[in-house]
Amino acid sequence: MFGRRDSTTPTSSHEGTGTTDGPGAGRYPAARTDEEWRATLSPQEYQVLRLAGTERAYTGEYTDNHEVGVYSCRACGTELFRSEQKFDSHCGWPSFYSALAGDRVEEIEDRSFGSVRTEVRCAACGSHMGHVFAGEGYGTPTDLRYCINSISMRFEPAAPGA
Ligand SMILES: [Zn+2]
Repeated sequence: MFGRRDSTTPTSSHEGTGTTDGPGAGRYPAARTDEEWRATLSPQEYQVLRLAGTERAYTGEYTDNHEVGVYSCRACGTELFRSEQKFDSHCGWPSFYSALAGDRVEEIEDRSFGSVRTEVRCAACGSHMGHVFAGEGYGTPTDLRYCINSISMRFEPAAPGA
């Protein structure tokens, strides 16, 4: 799972390590070219999804969303998280204790900003979702916190009566 990327490469001063993999981007089944992503995503979406940016805490539209439904990748539409696994972490971003099963998300070691974190990407298109943290003591079944940018996702409420 880890170690595919050369983590020792110094990163530039701007935020994030970038998620564009150049010629290797084809390893994602729903990958597109950088030009296509720029054409289909808003500048704000592009900054987070494709450049591994982070939206400002408490600014995302889904941070305090308690509706029942599914959260999909805003770039490619793959369902990644469900409201059943969302919990109130009070960290300023939507938080889930588990992603949907079946390797919907990809977890990659991220050594930007002088610390070791685990980046979460959509496994279908490679877009940046956020990070996952372990052992914080939130009392959830997994003791994991998938800290995900609202702008990386699109929420679909469950159908009435479903
Ligand atoms: Zn995706």
